[in-house]
Amino acid sequence: MAQRNTWQRDRVREALGDASGFVSAQSLHATLREENTGIGLATVYRALAGLAAQGEADSLQSPEGESLYRACTSPGHHHHLICRSCGLTVEIAATDVEQWARRTAALHGFSEAEHVVDIFGLCTPCSQARARDRAGD
Ligand SMILES: [Zn+2]
Ligand SMILES: [Zn+2]
Ligand SMILES: [Zn+2]
Repeated sequence: MAQRNTWQRDRVREALGDASGFVSAQSLHATLREENTGIGLATVYRALAGLAAQGEADSLQSPEGESLYRACTSPGHHHHLICRSCGLTVEIAATDVEQWARRTAALHGFSEAEHVVDIFGLCTPCSQARARDRAGD
């Protein structure tokens, strides 16, 4: 029943838009549960996969292998810089990567090549906090 799921998907889309960075299906489900929406985890997974397939959300794998989602502000193909501590996400263009990927694929006789490149690291405030922790302040 596609009709019945529409409001649930809308609600998941809304919650995703409210999230500050990339979130997992589990954490989005936890947020929705606090709001007593009655939306199950399986429905959250399905809704997120659907949004990603339609280009309404970006999805990526965390270094731990978890699928993460975000409602992206940039249309079309782009890359991300993600703080692995606080989740801050910056959308970036990567012209060098595009050229390198196209050239490398062509060199090996590949066509219709796609790539996923996201950079995980620590943002400035998180780097500074970590340096402070190390200094034992
Ligand atoms: Zn994005
Ligand atoms: Zn950070
Ligand atoms: Zn690219």
